[in-house]
Amino acid sequence: METNIIKGKECAEKVLQNLSDKISALPTEETPILAVIMVGDNEASQIYVRNKQKAAAKIGMGCEVMEFSSSIGENALLEVIDELNSNHHINGIIVQLPLPSHIDTLKVLSRIRSSKDVDGFGPYNSGLLSYNSEQAVISATPKGIMHLLLSTGIELKGKNAVVIGRSNIVGKPIAMLLTNHNCTVTLAHSKTTNLPDIIKTSDIVVAACGRAKMIKGDWLKEGAVVIDVGINRIDGKLCGDVDYDSAIGKASYITPVPGGVGPMTIAMLLSNTFEAFIRQQSEPECSCGKSGCHCHH
Ligand code: NDP
Repeated sequence: METNIIKGKECAEKVLQNLSDKISALPTEETPILAVIMVGDNEASQIYVRNKQKAAAKIGMGCEVMEFSSSIGENALLEVIDELNSNHHINGIIVQLPLPSHIDTLKVLSRIRSSKDVDGFGPYNSGLLSYNSEQAVISATPKGIMHLLLSTGIELKGKNAVVIGRSNIVGKPIAMLLTNHNCTVTLAHSKTTNLPDIIKTSDIVVAACGRAKMIKGDWLKEGAVVIDVGINRIDGKLCGDVDYDSAIGKASYITPVPGGVGPMTIAMLLSNTFEAFIRQQSEPECSCGKSGCHCHH
């Protein structure tokens, strides 16, 4: 079988070009601004944040990175978020994960005003997603994955899909999105006992388990559509969670690593920030003064 490569990089470039055009056509002097909070000196986080900054600069979007030592206290971090929440020049706020273990991630994410939660990780936007609400800010990686899946033109309705990995930032939201698109979804994880059997019957496979080349080509159903979210390194070389070489010839579509889901994640984050900017321009800021306020979203 011929395997089509889903070109995430090209797709992301189109999204970014479109955003760049929209930003340069804005009538006001204002430009959307994303605030990125980074705690500690996690090397991977630094690379991801640098890439976000570069992409934002390229399309004329502001990106303010605030770096804090890993010893920052939870209350101090919450105060930073409160200030950003009430700063009218900041349109989107993200906290680069993971946070150090002494900080309660859910508490921090919950503090971001829902209208500025452009990662969509907060409980309010996650809840809206489970309601299949159009108001939900959908987190960047799952949103990018759906964009890539839809770009293939395949019918999603009634398809069997398996998502491997149940994290709050990738696995669970993508499973929810696929459900909302009428797929029948299995959400697999490290305690799943019969993964190859489940994959064998799946038309769509989304691999997000962070295990290099774990999913083998001979586990796949002939013609499966494979989305590889994993970012792993073997001897310094990037690879996904799918054994790409053995999936070629078996899958009908596959995303490469690098150049697949990764570039789409950044494009979707900036897209969410632009949308937040537009919404905030047309809706007055909430005046209740409460941080994390949901009166206005
Ligand atoms: P997490 O480590 O938070 O979650 C991994 C998930 O995979 C867990 O649910 C875990 O199960 C499951 N898992 C681990 N081992 C197995 C196994 N042997 N079989 C089945 N399931 C397993 O990772 P993330 O969701 O944050 O990220 C997943 C991957 O995606 C990583 O490689 C990450 O680098 C990449 N990533 C890529 C992005 C991109 O833009 N391309 C963005 C975000 C992440 P359990 O819950 O039982 O522990």
